[in-house]
Amino acid sequence: MYSMFFQIASLFYIILLILAYFSKKRINNIENKIYACLIINVFISLLLDIASIFTIKNLAAIPIINDIVAKMYLATLISWLTFFTIYIIVLAKHDNNNDSYNLSYYKKSVHIFSIFYLIYLATLFILPLNYNFSQNAVYSYGPAANVSYLYAGILILIELCFTFFNIKKIPIKKLLPMFLFFIFGTSAVIIQMNNPSILLISFMDTFITFLMYFTIENPDMKLIEELNLAKEQAEKANRAKTDFLSNMSHEIRTPLNAIVGFSQALAEEDISSEAREEVKDIIMSSNNLLEIVNGILDISKIEANKLEIVNTEYDTRRLMKDVVALTKARLASRPLDFKVDIDPTMPQVLYGDHVRIKQILINILTNAVKYTKEGYIAFSVNTVITDDVCRLIMTVEDSGIGIKPEDIDKLFTKFQRFELEKNATTEGTGLGLAITKSLVELMNGKIVVQSKYGEGSKFTVSIDQRIIPKTSDEIETTDDTNTNPFNASGQRILVVDDNNINLKVANRLLKDYEADVVLINSGQECINRILDGEHYDLILMDDMMPHMTGTETLKNLKNIFGFKIPVVALTANAISGMRERYLSLGFDDYLAKPINQGHLFKVLKKYLVENPNPVLRNEVKNDIVQEEKNHSREFLESKGIDVNHGLELLGDMEMYDMTIAEFYKEFPEKMKKIDEYKNSNDMPNYAILVHAMKSDSKYLGFMELADISYKHEMASKEENISFVNENYELLKMEAIKIYNIVKEYIGE
Ligand code: ADP
Repeated sequence: MYSMFFQIASLFYIILLILAYFSKKRINNIENKIYACLIINVFISLLLDIASIFTIKNLAAIPIINDIVAKMYLATLISWLTFFTIYIIVLAKHDNNNDSYNLSYYKKSVHIFSIFYLIYLATLFILPLNYNFSQNAVYSYGPAANVSYLYAGILILIELCFTFFNIKKIPIKKLLPMFLFFIFGTSAVIIQMNNPSILLISFMDTFITFLMYFTIENPDMKLIEELNLAKEQAEKANRAKTDFLSNMSHEIRTPLNAIVGFSQALAEEDISSEAREEVKDIIMSSNNLLEIVNGILDISKIEANKLEIVNTEYDTRRLMKDVVALTKARLASRPLDFKVDIDPTMPQVLYGDHVRIKQILINILTNAVKYTKEGYIAFSVNTVITDDVCRLIMTVEDSGIGIKPEDIDKLFTKFQRFELEKNATTEGTGLGLAITKSLVELMNGKIVVQSKYGEGSKFTVSIDQRIIPKTSDEIETTDDTNTNPFNASGQRILVVDDNNINLKVANRLLKDYEADVVLINSGQECINRILDGEHYDLILMDDMMPHMTGTETLKNLKNIFGFKIPVVALTANAISGMRERYLSLGFDDYLAKPINQGHLFKVLKKYLVENPNPVLRNEVKNDIVQEEKNHSREFLESKGIDVNHGLELLGDMEMYDMTIAEFYKEFPEKMKKIDEYKNSNDMPNYAILVHAMKSDSKYLGFMELADISYKHEMASKEENISFVNENYELLKMEAIKIYNIVKEYIGE
C-alpha cells in the first residue's frame, strides 16, 4: 500500500483539476489545447500506474496483460513529456507583438514528434520489461524502461534548448513550471533510473500540470476577460442611458416650454372663468410632467454618481418659510390641520446645500399631503448643537393611510408605489423617496420611517450643517414672494433661439415687462448685431442651436473688444448641475426651459434693475472723450498695430486714415462673404477674399491678421478644406479683434 501513496494523492488532485478546468468556459487557443491534453494524459497515466501495481502483483496469472499495462504506462509518461515539449516550443515561437501563436510551427512540431513517438512506441513494445515485486515496492525495469529514460532525456534536452534560446520571449510566470520541471523532473528521472523502487515520475507530472493551471491563460482568466467586457458594455450602456435621458429632457422640455409659457400668458388674458380653470389645469399638468422629468433626471444622476452637493451659506428661517408656504399652497382647501413647530434656537445662518434640503422636505411633505385624507400633518424642526455643528432634526408626521410593515423596507426603492387601488387617483412615480434617501445620504444624514398601517406615518430626517456666526441680514437674499413684472421700458433684450415657438414664448413672457425685445434665430446673427454696434441690456441665449451653439456664440462675443453685456443661458437641458456648468462656461446666469415666471423675474430684476449694464451707459457718456483719446497713432501702436509699416506703403497719415475707414466700412460685408464661402466649401472664392484681407492688412499694418490670412489663402488655393476649417476660428477672432480696434480708433 505504501508504494501507492503518491499515486492516489496525485489522482485526487488531478480529478479536482479536471473538474475545475473543464467545468468552465475556456479561451480557445493552442496553449489551452495542449494543456487539456496534458491534464488528460496525467489522469490516464495515473490510472495505468495504479493498475500496473495490481498487475505486477499478479504477474504470474496475467503476464501479457501486465506487460501491456506497464508498457502503456511508460508510453503515457513519454507522451506527457512530448506534449510538454510541444508546449515549450509553441511558447518560444509565440508572436508577442500580435499576441498570437505560430500555428504552422505547432502543426510541424506535432507531426515530427508524432513520428518519433511512434518509433519509440515500437521499440518499447519490442524490447522486454522486467518486474520487481517486493514488500515495499512494485516497479518495472530493464531495456524497455531504459529506452524510455533515454527518450525522456532527449526530450528534456530539446526543451532546455528551446527555453534557453528564447528565454526573453517567454513570459516570466510561464517559465516557472518549466524551471521546476527541469530541476525536479530531471532529478526524478535520474533517481528513478538508479532506484526504480521510488515511483516519482507520475507525481512530478501531476505537480507540474497542477502548477501550470495558474500560469496558462486558464478559465479564470477567461472569466475575468468576459467580466471586463461585460463591465465595459454596461458602462457604455449606462452612458447611452444618461445621454438618452439628457436628450429626452431636452425634447420634452422644448414643447413644455411652449405649453407652460402660452398657458401662463393665456391665464392673464380676459377669458371666461371656465376657460381660466381649464388653463390652470393645463399649467398644473405641465408642472407635474416637469416634476416627473426632473425626478427621472435626478435619479439617473444619482446612479451615475454625478449628483453633486453644492454648499453655500443660507438663511435657515427663510428655507423653512419657503417649505411651509409651498406645502400650504399644495394643501389648498383640504380639511387638514397643518401644524408647524420650528425650534426658536435654530441658528440663523448655516452652511450646506439648502436647495437639496428643500427638495427633501418638499418630497416628504408632498407625500404627507398626497396620502392623508383627513386629520393633521405636523412639521417640526429641532436642533442639537455641538461646537460649530448644528444637527437639524426634521420630522413630518401625518394621520394618513400609513404603510404596511412589509412595505417599509421597499419604501426607498425607485419606482416602488404601494396601495395602488387606494391611490389610483394620486399622482406619483415612486421616485420621490428614492431620491430623498440618496440626497440625505449624500449629505451624510439619516432618514427614518415609522408608520402604522391605517393610522399614519412619521418621517424623520437628520442632517448636520455647519453654523456660520452671521445673521440673516448679512447674507444675500432676494425677496421672491413678489414676482410681478416691473416696467423695463427703454431697455433692450436680445433673445437668441433657433426655434420660433421658443422665441414666441419668450416674447410673450417678456411682454409684461414692456422692454424692447429683439428676437433672432442664430448665434451668427447675434455676433453680427453686436459687431454692428447694436446695444442691448441683456442677452438670453439658447445653447442647443445648429451651426453655432450658444456656448460657441458666447465665446466669440467675449472676444469682441469691450463686450460686457450679461448673457443668460436658456436651455432645455435641465439636469441638475447645469447651472454650475453654464456659469463655468462664462454665462452670467442660467434659465431652464420651460421658463419659470419667478426665475425669469429674478434674472430680469438682477440684470435690468439691480445691476444694469454699466458699460453701455459709460460708453454713451464717454463717447466724445474716447474719440479724442483713441484717434491717434499711439493708440493703434499700443494695440500692436505696425502703423509704420502701413505708412511706408501708403505715404502719410491722411492716406492711412482713408484706407482704414474704407476697411472699416467694408469689413462686415466681407466677413459675411468669407463666412459663406467657407460654409459652402467654395475654396476659389474664399481664396480671393482672404487674399484681399491679407493685402488690406499689410497696407494697414495688421501684421498678425496678414499672416493668418496668407496661410488661409495658401491652404484654400490648395483646396485644403480641413486646414481652413480647423483654423477658421483663429482667423475670425483676429479679424474681429482688429475690427474692434479700428472701430475705437475711428470713434464710432
Ligand atoms: P410617489 O409618491 O411618487 O409614488 P415616493 O417614492 O415618494 O413616490 O413614495 C413611494 C410610495 O411610498 C408611495 O407610492 C406611497 O405608497 C408610499 N408613501 C410615501 N409617503 C407616504 C405617507 N406619508 N403615507 C403613506 N404612504 C406613503
